[in-house]
Amino acid sequence: MAERLNGHTLLVSLIATPIRHSLSPTMWNEAFAKKGMDYAYLAFEVGNEQLEDAVKGIRALDIQGSNVSMPNKQKIIPLLDELSPAAEMAGAVNTVVNQKGHLVGHVTDGTGCMRALREEGVEIKDRIVTLTGAGGAGTAIAIQAALDGAKEIRIFNIDDEHYETARENVRKINEKTNTLASVTPLTDQAAFKQSLAESSVYIDATSVGMKPLQDESLINDSDLIRPDLVIFDVVYSPAETKLLRFAREHGAKQAYNGLGMMLYQGAEAFRLITGEDMPIAHVKQALGLN
Ligand code: NAD
Repeated sequence: MAERLNGHTLLVSLIATPIRHSLSPTMWNEAFAKKGMDYAYLAFEVGNEQLEDAVKGIRALDIQGSNVSMPNKQKIIPLLDELSPAAEMAGAVNTVVNQKGHLVGHVTDGTGCMRALREEGVEIKDRIVTLTGAGGAGTAIAIQAALDGAKEIRIFNIDDEHYETARENVRKINEKTNTLASVTPLTDQAAFKQSLAESSVYIDATSVGMKPLQDESLINDSDLIRPDLVIFDVVYSPAETKLLRFAREHGAKQAYNGLGMMLYQGAEAFRLITGEDMPIAHVKQALGLN
């Protein structure tokens, strides 16, 4: 790394808090080194209070772009000059591209999920998708699935503060795309069962399956699993959630965790900011994920 850094080195940042645990600096710096790109990627502990100054810093220091994570994904929007259609609809930004001081916000979690599915041969276009979750991940996925031409997106969520977000996502999708979207309380298990029976793809975008909910799954009835139902869990730690284990044990042929989504959301941000493809195989190896 030290040999690469010089007076011309370009900077990409990550602004969030807490952020020291993030895999992104390793992903990006490994990718830069592998491709011989004169860039560096650094994480900065930035919360809402420092956000405005941090965004001024992106412009002042000509930082090429930035990843944005919690708690800044929504709060950064009024500080930017333009939003991609997906970021506009999702009301969240995880990537900022600095086009000569003109800052454009994008959200790549949804495209990351769609690409992870596509890499496994799963196309979302014209398909019925059942989706649990309407937080940051669920929102980005619902919006991108609609922008990618899903026939229907049936969202199920528990009765918490995210239910209202699910309603809002449904309203926007029905208004702005040709996809038919709906939201139903997850307590309506008959509707959930019926939706899964009619769907090609089930995406679990909730935090169920990850600590402290690692012993929980939203599917516990083997009748809901079919060999031709694609199951995608956004959680990637643990690599095999209770949902994925249960699905595989009961005959699911295509059950995936969120690792691909995590890698491809990074790859999409990398392409948007640098114009280059991220060397995915190398990054996976560097993260010890092979
Ligand atoms: P969030 O807090 O914004 O949303 C959480 C969602 O889970 C909400 O819809 C909430 O209603 C639902 N939920 C919480 N507890 C539940 C329960 N007991 N039963 C049913 N639903 C429940 O979180 P987020 O940022 O959307 O993240 C959700 C998960 O996705 C996390 O596990 C996160 O690690 C993962 N994630 C993965 C990637 C990736 O690249 N693979 C990207 C972002 C988030």
